Amino acid sequence: MQHVSTPSYPYAILKFIKYRLKPLYSVQKNMETLVLFYKYVDIQYPHQILKWQKTTATDLGLKGRIILAHEGINGILSGSKESVDQYIQLMNEHELFGGIDFKISTGACGYHPRLRIVIKDEIVHFGVDTTKITAKMGGKHLTPEQTHALFENKPDDLIILDTRNDYESKIGTFKDAITPDIRNFRDLPEYLDNNIDQFKDKKVLMFCTGGVRCERATAYLKEKDVAQEVYQIEGGIERYVKKFPDGFFRGKNYVFDGRVSVRINNDILANCELCSVACDDYNNCMNASCNKQFIACTPCAQKYNGTCCTKCMELVEQKLVPIRPPFKKAEVNSCSVK
Ligand SMILES: [Zn+2]
Ligand SMILES: [Zn+2]
Repeated sequence: MQHVSTPSYPYAILKFIKYRLKPLYSVQKNMETLVLFYKYVDIQYPHQILKWQKTTATDLGLKGRIILAHEGINGILSGSKESVDQYIQLMNEHELFGGIDFKISTGACGYHPRLRIVIKDEIVHFGVDTTKITAKMGGKHLTPEQTHALFENKPDDLIILDTRNDYESKIGTFKDAITPDIRNFRDLPEYLDNNIDQFKDKKVLMFCTGGVRCERATAYLKEKDVAQEVYQIEGGIERYVKKFPDGFFRGKNYVFDGRVSVRINNDILANCELCSVACDDYNNCMNASCNKQFIACTPCAQKYNGTCCTKCMELVEQKLVPIRPPFKKAEVNSCSVK
């Protein structure tokens, strides 16, 4: 009689290695350096740059994502400090990429399983012709210090506009900021069109995570020629909170890597979506076919078995749906650069 091994035992080991050990190993590996950068610059031959970027990043063992377009470059990379330093040096020496404001963080921030470099129409999907609305036409840059001073002596006609998505502004934003109910950056032009009157003759200060979105979003608003003045924060929230951690930005900064969010100060702006207690911790529903990103307090996360609602909890309990692997909480957000 042929020996038939029971599949459950080896499968359990494989599953354990895949879902428990490997992610832990990757997290450890990525407890290193993360760099965020962008530059709006005319790139005539993005395919050539792609080849060069691929070779450079691969040789340095960097993981992450780079978006190239004729309008510029936008990237997030992680690896050892030495590799990141070398990458920055090579970029600075390149005729197109000098003078970039590289935003570096260290800690458990990787979760980039691979390196992905792509060519797209825009370095951030705004859905607006890059030849008609360019970063060159963008609003006036304010340094973190100038931004802070403006907030301290806030003029009556100042409008503070968060250009990020609703799930980002929900857990942290600037005091008195307008937070559009948009799911994607590409929805912002329509929001601006529909609400154009509120910017009439106003000074409008726009901001996003690192500045890349506002470069063109401010240009879009400026082109409408309704606001008295359009400003953007140089280096976005990232640069402001480095200078003023207990300043006018309150709560958490949503980020597009394994960290999901970074606490800036102790204000909690959001609520648990299951019990309404003050909470700003994001989870992904354990029901893999739902995978909704939702805010849940620890007691609710336990009570609902890591799912977003009673329905998902029941589906998971009855094993009717695939269960999202543990320790991959932030995977849905990794590698995406906004
Ligand atoms: Zn709760
Ligand atoms: Zn769910």
